[in-house]
Amino acid sequence: MGDLRLPDTSRSIDLHAHTTASDGQHSPSELVRRAHALGLTAIGITDHDTTAGIVEALEAGADLGIEVVPGIELSAEIEVGQCHILGYFIDPSDTALISRLRYVVEMRNSRNGRIVNKLRDEFGFEITLDEIEAIAGGDIVARPHFARALVNRGYVATMQEAFDVYLGKGGKAYVDRVRLSPEEAIGLIHGAGGVAILAHPNNLKRDAAGTETAISELVDAGLDGIEARYNRHLPEDNARYLQLAAKLGILTSGGSDYHGETVKADVQLGHVEGALPAPSDVLEEIRSKRRS
Ligand SMILES: [Zn+2]
Ligand SMILES: [Zn+2]
Repeated sequence: MGDLRLPDTSRSIDLHAHTTASDGQHSPSELVRRAHALGLTAIGITDHDTTAGIVEALEAGADLGIEVVPGIELSAEIEVGQCHILGYFIDPSDTALISRLRYVVEMRNSRNGRIVNKLRDEFGFEITLDEIEAIAGGDIVARPHFARALVNRGYVATMQEAFDVYLGKGGKAYVDRVRLSPEEAIGLIHGAGGVAILAHPNNLKRDAAGTETAISELVDAGLDGIEARYNRHLPEDNARYLQLAAKLGILTSGGSDYHGETVKADVQLGHVEGALPAPSDVLEEIRSKRRS
């Protein structure tokens, strides 16, 4: 959408956007340039599991005259799956945060290789990661591709047997994922001076009562607020989350979760509440809770 300005953006912000430092399309400086061109007064840089884009974004923001809020988006393991927790005003060079994330990402990226090694070293199976990747055919490699390889080579009779004996949880070649608990994710954000906000609360995928319980538990774990305003919310979602935040006495934030035109084509930068950004006073409340 080029450099079109949004209506009434004199005090407008977008606190959730991704750059090439994680899975976004635009470099940090290009993202900041676009936010500035829209007329936003602040942009939150919230890449997944990395602070690598923040310094470049801060420099671009200083040049252009738009506030860049240094942030991050962490994945944490909860009962029903995963939740994403945003950190705002973090120190991008915090060593505890960076070293823990480096470990988690390395373990995640090396998981497939470690499964292959187990199958080769402990059971003498002649399979390779190249072979598994060929079976995946360009998809993200997952355990069914390993199971297919074991069947193809005759080490097991069925996919089910591959899972039961080797690949399933508790199986002989099972490699656990490294996951952050909500407590740890929130603690890392707080330790880096930041404010911890639950991203896109609809992803909890629960009814109203279940959502409130889950968010209350996260607040007990230290959560500071929820992303009550979100690109994919209906107006009634926003209203419900704003009400819940008031009830729980926690902060609210607002973001588009923009990744670029080619990555999530239906999500536009600055479109937080319908086609509008979030109001800037949201940011002032978050700023007042920063720990650095
Ligand atoms: Zn997310
Ligand atoms: Zn995101």
